[in-house]
Amino acid sequence: MKIIMLGAPGAGKGTQAIMIADKYGIPHVSTGDIFRANIKNNTPLGQEAKTYMDKGMLVPDELTVKILLDRVAQDDCKNGYVLDGFPRTIVQADVLKDALNKLGDHIDHAINVDVPDENIIKRMSGRRACVKCGATYHIEHVPPKKEGICDNCGEALVLRDDDKPETVKKRLDVYHEQTQPLIDYYNKEGILKNVDGTQEMNKVFEDITKILG
Ligand code: ADP
Ligand code: AMP
Repeated sequence: MKIIMLGAPGAGKGTQAIMIADKYGIPHVSTGDIFRANIKNNTPLGQEAKTYMDKGMLVPDELTVKILLDRVAQDDCKNGYVLDGFPRTIVQADVLKDALNKLGDHIDHAINVDVPDENIIKRMSGRRACVKCGATYHIEHVPPKKEGICDNCGEALVLRDDDKPETVKKRLDVYHEQTQPLIDYYNKEGILKNVDGTQEMNKVFEDITKILG
């Protein structure tokens, strides 16, 4: 099963993608996590991506598409994957579609986690992330067992540089301009499914599992 998660930054795509990956036994592929791991390890890719990410801008398509296609070509993606944060532009969606078409393959579901902008800013300021394993927490809604420490791997949690309110505002503008058109794109493809992302996270997941079966 190949799944795309759509939604504004902070809508809960990553939270749901991790639960989907666990339930259906497929890898969670997050371009944001790949970039953050590269930033942490100070690779040339990380250095380049950081210049865009810190400003709330998208990393250029050329670079992002290559990273993603390399990742999904790996062995563990053979039976499917859940994409979180990719595609974010029509160009990226077209490249993915063409690459899959060449293999006689396609995306099965594009799940749009719908959350209005008003809720997003609150969620992002409370988000705490683990750069080691990709787990995400919220200081009020999804707190870790021990404050500031990842439940899964014991790493110290961080407030992402791009979760500061001024950058979040820019990311939302970029989302509306460049990523939201993908809702229409996948609707036309006949694979769009909407879920109400303002609900409690287990309820959102229940709605998603009804769609995925
Ligand atoms: P995205 O991957 O779409 O950017 P995340 O999954 O990282 O979003 O979620 C953003 C923040 O909101 C995190 O702090 C997360 O713990 C919290 N969160 C996720 N889903 C919900 C929910 N249904 N209700 C409340 N908070 C949520
Ligand atoms: P995320 O973790 O998905 O919120 O992504 C964090 C940041 O990484 C984004 O604001 C972008 O700067 C960059 N990024 C992640 N995925 C993509 C993508 N598909 N295209 C372009 N930039 C991306």
